[in-house]
Amino acid sequence: MELWYTEQHTDNVKFSLKVKDHLFTGQSEFQKVDVLDTFEYGRLLTLDGLVMVTDKDEFIYHDMIVHVPMAVNPQIKKVLVIGGGDGGTVRELMRYKSIEHVDMVEIDKMVCDVAREFFPAISCDLDNERVSLYYEDGIKFIKSKKNEYDLIIVDSTDPIGPGEGLFSVEFYTDCFNALTENGILTNQSEGAMYETHAKELVRSHNKIKNIFTISKIYQGNIPTYPSGYWLFGFASKKLDPIKDLQADAWNAFNLKTKYYNTDLHVGAFAIPNFVKETIENG
Ligand code: SAM
Repeated sequence: MELWYTEQHTDNVKFSLKVKDHLFTGQSEFQKVDVLDTFEYGRLLTLDGLVMVTDKDEFIYHDMIVHVPMAVNPQIKKVLVIGGGDGGTVRELMRYKSIEHVDMVEIDKMVCDVAREFFPAISCDLDNERVSLYYEDGIKFIKSKKNEYDLIIVDSTDPIGPGEGLFSVEFYTDCFNALTENGILTNQSEGAMYETHAKELVRSHNKIKNIFTISKIYQGNIPTYPSGYWLFGFASKKLDPIKDLQADAWNAFNLKTKYYNTDLHVGAFAIPNFVKETIENG
């Protein structure tokens, strides 16, 4: 009998992947954690039945959430990652020898343990000596931090369950206060094709733009996320993602990336009209 994983994207849309094997299932204090081996996308991590990462397309998400801010400020030295338990974001950050330290705050230890066991190519730098890993709530962790990080990456689940507070005014204000003068915040911002995601996109964008001087949306194509079209937020106190792009400095890092390049960087901020309208009318 064929085995299929199905995620309900809306009441009227389902997304399915043919599965070879169900490798892990567990219930943590926070969410249900599953690992499936799929035919097309390799291993798949789901939390509460929603796709988080797959072996095949994780590079797109992690390239976009990390290399975009690094190309705007290649001098970034200290980074805070909130969420990101699979380790992909930290792995990309560790490729920069210039980054001195990363604090990563993941609420659910089970996600990191499962990533270490089933996704070695993604979780490989979770125990890097330049990384301090805290199994805590990122919302509480950030409260005591002032003027400390050059970059904050919110690599979170959707705004339900433990991730809900990561989309609040209070949390974004705490991020602003925790950032240095040139600080940048990037976050996963949901999609724009389906109404439920578009509403969350607008809600978070409206909050961030009232707190940060610069607040932009940028895009990436992630086949296993709803509609395959996903958005990220870029916010900062003074750096503009296009005017301040340091393409030569970033290219001098000489990193081999599978998705990101500095031409794509410019295009990623050229968002389609329907997304512009969604944001403007929100
Ligand atoms: N790339 C994924 C996506 O956009 O679907 C997200 C990656 S997933 C590893 C996000 C992580 O955020 C989860 O492991 C979850 O446990 C963590 N998380 C959710 N709420 C959190 C909170 N309040 N503090 C810290 N981590 C949190």
